[in-house]
Amino acid sequence: MNVNQRMDLCGLLENNRQWASDVEDRRPGFFQSLMQQQAPQWLWIGCADSRVPANELVGLQPGELFVHRNIANVVAHSDLNCLSVLQYAVDMLKVQHVAVVGHSGCGGVRAALEKTRIGIADNWVRHIRDVVEKHSSWLETLSPDQQLDATCRLNVLEQTRNLCLTTVMQDAWSRGQTVAVHGLIYSLQDGLLKSLSLTVRSLDDVERNYALALAELMLPKAAVPTPTHCDCSEHVLTAA
Ligand SMILES: [Zn+2]
Repeated sequence: MNVNQRMDLCGLLENNRQWASDVEDRRPGFFQSLMQQQAPQWLWIGCADSRVPANELVGLQPGELFVHRNIANVVAHSDLNCLSVLQYAVDMLKVQHVAVVGHSGCGGVRAALEKTRIGIADNWVRHIRDVVEKHSSWLETLSPDQQLDATCRLNVLEQTRNLCLTTVMQDAWSRGQTVAVHGLIYSLQDGLLKSLSLTVRSLDDVERNYALALAELMLPKAAVPTPTHCDCSEHVLTAA
């Protein structure tokens, strides 16, 4: 279906029947086995934007990714919805990784930057406005286009830090649970997901790793070294 085609309920349900049939053809018994349990290794906290389909863009099947999405991938300490998802994923499902995923051209971030009034969501976007104000002295040195991209990335770093400072993550790390938190950004331009060099594996690492990732983001582009390894320090990305 192209982006301008209409999709009514019949079309939606027919698409679903076709998808379920294709999955069952490829993996007979898939849905029956999935009924027994879910054991995802990843929790994804991302933007609600329809152009950023979590499972699809990382090639994971139903049962492999626990997902929470809201406008502009915000992790607010008063948001019981997000905190409940996080606690269930970490405490009950024992996910090994939590990803906070922003994306380029985010409408929520743009609204915060441009102070657009859109309705009830203005109060939600205020969380991102706080990010803009915190880093305003750096953002003001950039062009408007650069500001949007930079704020999308800054928002990921700030929300990742917020997530690390929740009681859920503090408790998990205090009892020695192995769970890593990552800050990632997805590009609408090319469909690629990239690390923002922020991975945290313990409470002691939060502020140091956040400060390092922030410093890297604020480096002039020409001064940013080409990464040779991904965050796990094992997979070589390019020849050193
Ligand atoms: Zn967005």
